[in-house]
This record gives sequence, C-alpha cells and structure tokens, in this order.
Amino acid sequence: MSESAPVLLVTGGSRGIGAAVSVAAAQHGWAVAVNYASNKEAAEAVVATIREAGGEAIAIAGDVGKPEDIKSIFATIDAHFGHLDGLVNNAGIVGVIQRLDEMTPERIDRMFRVNVTGSMLVAAEAVRRMSTRHGGKGGVIVNVSSLAATLGGGGQYVDYAASKGAIDTFTVGLAREVAAEGIRVNAVRPGIIDTDIHAAAGLPDRARDIAPQLPMKRAGTADEVADSILYLLGPHASYITGALLDVSGGR
Ligand code: NAP
Repeated sequence: MSESAPVLLVTGGSRGIGAAVSVAAAQHGWAVAVNYASNKEAAEAVVATIREAGGEAIAIAGDVGKPEDIKSIFATIDAHFGHLDGLVNNAGIVGVIQRLDEMTPERIDRMFRVNVTGSMLVAAEAVRRMSTRHGGKGGVIVNVSSLAATLGGGGQYVDYAASKGAIDTFTVGLAREVAAEGIRVNAVRPGIIDTDIHAAAGLPDRARDIAPQLPMKRAGTADEVADSILYLLGPHASYITGALLDVSGGR
C-alpha cells in the first residue's frame, strides 16, 4: 500500500459493524486504525485479515468514554500515519433491558459518556486534523446512530435510544458547522443487525427471534451496514452531508 493511502479511524472496529467496516474500508483503499475497548485479540484478528489481503491497518486500544484514552488514540494515529482523512464513529454500548424507573444514574451516565460524549470528542479530534480551517485537507465522518433514535426504545432501553437521538442531532449540526471546511458528516441508522451487541442487552438470540416481525423477515448483517457506510465515506456521496440513512430493512 502506498504511503499516501487515506487514513480512516473506526472506533469499535474489533467486532460487529466496526469490524465489517474496517475490512471493507481496507478493500476500498483506506489504511485503517482499528480502535477497540478491551478485546485486543478480536482487533488483532481484524488487522490480520486486512494485512493478509494486502491492506494496511493497526489496532489501537482506547475507551471512547474516557477523554484521556481519546487523546492517546489520536496520538497513536499522528505518530503512525501522520494524517487522518475519515472517521467512523461506531463504538457504542447498550445496557440490559430495563425500564427507566429501574435504571441507575451510573448506567445512564455511562451510556451518554460512551455513545454521545465519546462520539463528540472523537469527532472534535478528527475535525482538528481534517478541517481546512485547521490546515487539513478535508475529510469525512460517518456516525453510527440507530433506528432506536426514531422508535424510542420504550420498555427496552430508552437511555440508549435517547443517546442515538443525540447522535442524529449532532450529525446534522456538525455537518453544517464544517460543510465549508471540506468535511462531510452523515449518519447511518441500523435496524436489527446480527452482532454481539444483543447479548450485552441480555438478548443473545434477538436477531433471530425478532426476524418474523421485521418487514424483510430477517435481521441485517454487519456487512450490509458496512456497505452503506462505505458509500457515505466515498466519492459517490460527494454532495451528501447532514443525512441520516436508515439501514433497517424497512423497519
Ligand atoms: P458490538 O458487536 O457489541 O461491537 C461493539 C464494538 O465497539 C466492539 O468493537 C467494542 O470493542 C467496541 N466498544 C464498545 N465500547 C467501547 C468503548 N467504550 N470504547 C471503544 N470501543 C468500544 O456492537 P455492534 O452491534 O457492531 O454496534 C456497533 C454500533 O452500531 C453501535 O454504535 C451500536 O449502537 C450501533 N447499532 C447496532 C445495531 C445492532 O442491531 N447491532 C443496531 C443499531 C445501531 P471490544 O471488542 O474491545 O469490546
């Protein structure tokens, strides 16, 4: 791979949608910084897959819920690549299924710290590197929201849904803020996608169990979401910014 390959940071790139995005992005010529929280083995496996196919990638540990970790993720990118051209703000968490009146303040605080504050601080570091206002060459950001932002998550996880509602608003606002600085900002809103995240909510079989209730009678795959993200990252989306793209099979 040439030294000038565009560099993409994928937060939460070790598993699920982020892993699929990392691999697909490498196939499209991006050098990929694969961020992960704790699962080094999974992140290294994604990096190995990319390298075996002739691509360029590194794994970078860091909890996006911790501002000091975000600084260190970007310090590693600066040292290793020296530039940044794209960001997929994908890292996100759910909690176990609970009503609001059962949730602790700590749960809600962590949800917003990772899903919202984390995404905003990561995007801020990306803008500092990509914006023409800061001497950058421009770039592209895709935030990973959720269809839950429109459904509300009632009886399941209103905290998660509200955090994704914040991501939608943030996407529209940041898109307008940096549109004249060479940066496009969009979001995808996946529906039910078959990944590990449902086990974290206490519903490991959710994708299979809910399939009959979905319009297409099946959950989506991480690869299908990755395809939509790659579209928004790429040149065919050159006049799209501030858009929220549902990738939900009609849900
Ligand atoms: P997943 O399979 O649970 O994978 C989560 C990824 O995020 C892992 O790579 C994990 O790293 C990383 N991560 C978690 N917390 C992190 C943190 N604090 N800092 C950095 N990385 C962190 O999840 P997924 O289903 O692919 O979801 C990815 C995104 O899509 C999330 O934003 C989620 O809300 C959104 N989404 C998913 C669905 C769905 O049905 N799956 C639907 C709508 C939206 P480790 O491997 O180190 O744990």
